[in-house]
Amino acid sequence: MSAAPIRVVSPATGVLVGEVPDSGAAGAAEAFARARAAQPAWAAWDLEQRVEAIRRWRDAVLDEPAVPETLVKESGKPRMEAEGIEVLYLCELIRAMTRLAPRAFREETRHPLLFLTKKTRLVRRPLGVVGVIGPWNFPILNNAADAVAPLLAGNAVVLKPSEVTPLTSVLLAELWRRAGNPPGVFQVVTGRGETGAAVADLADGVMFTGSVATGRRVGARCGERLVPCVLELGGKSPFVVLAGADVERAAEAAAWSAFMHSGQACIRTERIFVDASVADRFESLLVARVAALRQMAPDPSGTVTHDLGSVTFARQIEVVERHIADALSKGARVLTGGARLADRTGLFFQPTVLAGATPDMAVMREETFGPLVPVMRVSGAEEALRLANDTHLGLNATVFGPRAEAIAFARKLQTGQAIVNDVLVNYLIVESPLGGWKESGLGVRHGVEGLRQWTRIEAITVGRPLLAPVGRFLARMLAFPYDRRVLVVLRRASRLLYRRGWAEKLKSPPGRSRP
Ligand code: NDP
Repeated sequence: MSAAPIRVVSPATGVLVGEVPDSGAAGAAEAFARARAAQPAWAAWDLEQRVEAIRRWRDAVLDEPAVPETLVKESGKPRMEAEGIEVLYLCELIRAMTRLAPRAFREETRHPLLFLTKKTRLVRRPLGVVGVIGPWNFPILNNAADAVAPLLAGNAVVLKPSEVTPLTSVLLAELWRRAGNPPGVFQVVTGRGETGAAVADLADGVMFTGSVATGRRVGARCGERLVPCVLELGGKSPFVVLAGADVERAAEAAAWSAFMHSGQACIRTERIFVDASVADRFESLLVARVAALRQMAPDPSGTVTHDLGSVTFARQIEVVERHIADALSKGARVLTGGARLADRTGLFFQPTVLAGATPDMAVMREETFGPLVPVMRVSGAEEALRLANDTHLGLNATVFGPRAEAIAFARKLQTGQAIVNDVLVNYLIVESPLGGWKESGLGVRHGVEGLRQWTRIEAITVGRPLLAPVGRFLARMLAFPYDRRVLVVLRRASRLLYRRGWAEKLKSPPGRSRP
């Protein structure tokens, strides 16, 4: 153990809720050694056995009341979000991914045209030990849940959660063992940035979720080591309200997508662009909803219902205050909120809506990741599109408007995902790949694509037995010693096949998939 233990304090109450070791690079190395020892046996299991193990783990999570309680305590989010978003997501992810896995990992046979005497078998093999590095805002959703796809592929996983919210991850690793699953296959190693860096140094593949700055460092390290990495980074997601939109529903959706988990979600609404023709009504409906949000220290048992808990990480309040001050100095107005809640012990900031936002404001350019949303009026869809795309990030987007128009608008956005006339639930549609464009990241989670990336392909080519004599004849043509007559034949054949287009007209035998 390299340093003092990490004290985890509830952001809502300031009370100490747990302690975890700072394992440092040495602790990460030990976890990787255990994982390397356990992984071959796990990979040798049938997919169905791995699926069963992951389902047992899910059941253990569902049966353990300490899971949502711990999550609420360390993150300050409402119990509704702990269970209704994070635990639900884990269950839905496991359902969908276990169902997609047989298709994703199925071996395939490819039949080439030119080398028609051969066939190639594509075999998907696990990478080895995958490192998952997660942020503090979603202790299950962006941490342990990201282990599911690599585990299904036959990898072992070492998860490094954020030092801010590590307790839920530690509990989930304990539940993995309690479910009777092999302990070295899924481990959590707690620590600070140094531990995360060690994970990136040791893993055979990395799933990183966090800031653009750290993501760059992790990506650079993976590039040096030539191991694959998936980077899920920040967002500056636009929320566009076109003329003709259902303004009431748009305001309701904007309030939820901007302030769910006090605005600390990567795909949250960060900028609102509203058509001037509906802006007055939209703003007043939005403000009414936001001003009515019930904000309090969450009750871990979930008996008290409320909408907003605390901010999880103190730095986010500083960002919110900086963005508000900058916006006000450039002409924006606070429509509701705008200040810390002075009468609370924890990290509470009022949900804040700014009107009169302009593209030069920091709140429109940098990720805020806190309980603040700016509204900017636009002259129409064209201006909305230009401004929505005017960002270095491209994670998620929302469009409200008449259906066909909104879909056409969404098709022009520069974003990994967009949702029409709804918000955020696209994250829970785990059959579809989800990832960022531009500086929002590389690679995807979810879907068949999100499973296959945790494998490497071995393409094994063999001769087709019935064509063996032809194969031997052709093989001799390309073997030493070279023969000038063969060169002439190849030259003529090339002209017929490619220059005259015969090859394009011939149909190669279709690739067949075999389970
Ligand atoms: P950070 O980048 O600060 O941290 C992410 C993780 O990386 C933490 O576990 C952190 O450890 C660890 N880490 C720190 N330094 C290093 C290093 N040198 N090498 C390897 N790992 C390191 O992000 P935040 O935790 O602040 O998360 C917020 C960000 O995450 C926001 O930008 C948000 O948009 C983004 N995010 C993206 C999502 C997506 O799907 N695209 C989803 C959720 C969040 P420690 O905390 O202990 O320092």
